[in-house]
Amino acid sequence: MSTFPQPFKSTVSHWQATNRGVTSLFNHGRDGALPKDTVDYVIIGGGISGCSLAYHLTRPGVADAKSVVLLEAKDVASGASGRNGGHIAPLSFAAFPGLTAPLPQGGAGLTEDEALEVIEMEKGNLEYITELVEQEKRDVDLWRGEKLEVKSSVGSAKTMKAAHDAWINARSHSRFAHIPPHWQWIDDAEEAKRLSRAKGAIACSKGSAGSVHSHKLTTAFMRAALASGNCSLYSWAPVVSFEESEDGWTVDCGERGKISTRQIIVCTNAHTRHLFKGEAIDKHLTPFQGQAALVTPPPSFSGSNYLAHTYTLEKGPYLMFTPSAGIVLGLPYVVAFAEGIGEKRDVWEVTDDSYVKPELKKWLYEYCGKAFDDWGDEAPGEGGTRVWSGIQCASRDTLPLVGAVPGRKGLWVNVGHHGHGMGRIPFITRSLARTITTGQWDGRLPSCFEITEERLVKGQTAPPFITDEEMRGETVPTAGRTGDGAKTVNKGGWWSGVRSFVR
Ligand SMILES: Cc1cc2nc3c(=O)[nH]c(=O)nc-3n(C[C@H](O)[C@H](O)[C@H](O)COP(=O)(O)OP(=O)(O)OC[C@H]3O[C@@H](n4cnc5c(N)ncnc54)[C@H](O)[C@@H]3O)c2cc1C
Repeated sequence: MSTFPQPFKSTVSHWQATNRGVTSLFNHGRDGALPKDTVDYVIIGGGISGCSLAYHLTRPGVADAKSVVLLEAKDVASGASGRNGGHIAPLSFAAFPGLTAPLPQGGAGLTEDEALEVIEMEKGNLEYITELVEQEKRDVDLWRGEKLEVKSSVGSAKTMKAAHDAWINARSHSRFAHIPPHWQWIDDAEEAKRLSRAKGAIACSKGSAGSVHSHKLTTAFMRAALASGNCSLYSWAPVVSFEESEDGWTVDCGERGKISTRQIIVCTNAHTRHLFKGEAIDKHLTPFQGQAALVTPPPSFSGSNYLAHTYTLEKGPYLMFTPSAGIVLGLPYVVAFAEGIGEKRDVWEVTDDSYVKPELKKWLYEYCGKAFDDWGDEAPGEGGTRVWSGIQCASRDTLPLVGAVPGRKGLWVNVGHHGHGMGRIPFITRSLARTITTGQWDGRLPSCFEITEERLVKGQTAPPFITDEEMRGETVPTAGRTGDGAKTVNKGGWWSGVRSFVR
């Protein structure tokens, strides 16, 4: 169980290291007393989920004149939101088989229509973030362009083509039929190699994607909420527990004191379980460690030679670039397992982000030199520059838990975003703010995200991400879900879907 205060100092990401000035929110509200009067909304957790929700609740016409308090255990974006790859990569057709695979096989168990809806929504998230950043002139290093999912083996390319065809076919008789498909499948080795510059590329997908300075974006949401005058932020205010009271809830922040509120929204992602100990939500979620690195490219990949796309690479990382600092690589756990540099217990249930295993660091630092044509020699200071870890939150059915906690009036959650929160959270919290204030599920959001008792029960039919024996190191991983692919859905096709969830 991950609780705060944590007994270690976390690694520092590129994003956290480059947003320390006076416009950052480090230490904001660290010393002040918590409000004595009952507030309307307490949000727990200051990642992109909590901060963008605070932003949405404080927009005119949403919850006018209602008071919002955000309680963060450490600093804003000290969790996964400040430690990710910064990739806003909508799911592609590669996710379609995983979304429609049955729960017992490790899929999300959705109908084709539901899966299409999730994929379309993610395109909406990218467009929504772009519009918001441009309209409000937020200085968050937003880049818009295209992402490539590069395949270098015949088997993988075949699986991707099958996923593409299934997606196109399902789409053609769905309510999205009139909208041109937003992902392309390029089955031409020459073109795949030209576009990607990756050694051994034989095919790739291509579709809209973006990247952003994730710490600046999260901070920008919070700053806008604070500027509304209806929101306060208390950093270093870890919530120990909450309990129902006569007119709402009492939230216990340990040494920081207690606060009364009418409604609570839990946005603690990987650290949610201890707040629901022994409950169905506890059983539905599994924390896991992810790792990423900043690589300073040599001149061969700088200036006019800079990368033009973001990527996922077969047996490789997901990869994006910052406007000027270089390339950020994230390591999907399936790749770490396949490469023999990590095993399940290095990932699942790990809630400590104070270290990166040396083998993983080495792999990330050496990757670009091995994967790209003409990378060339690195001067001292080029190549791997910084490496960090962060804790994410997997959900049994691979979908986020959003909305009202069944049977607990005035208690809401937005958690379980896997390695993919940038690809969906701001869009989700816009709808969640509306749902909270109107009491009606916002139809812009896929209904399969809604938390229900039935869903939590069904979720238990999905295999666990790690078994007790695997935790103890007593068995070699065999389960198809996160191991070596021995029992994967569609003979390995599932992995392409799973990978889509982890970036
Ligand atoms: C290495 C890595 C790479 C990733 N790359 C990408 C990517 O490129 N693209 C993408 O879409 N996603 C990526 N992700 C996933 C993405 O970062 C997450 O899905 C997203 O940030 C989740 O946001 P959140 O606000 O829900 O959680 P978090 O950012 O983790 O925020 C939760 C916050 O709650 C606080 N908290 C927890 N418990 C308490 C408590 N009891 N009291 C008070 N506060 C509490 C924590 O301190 C934390 O700040 C990556 C993640 C990692 C770790």
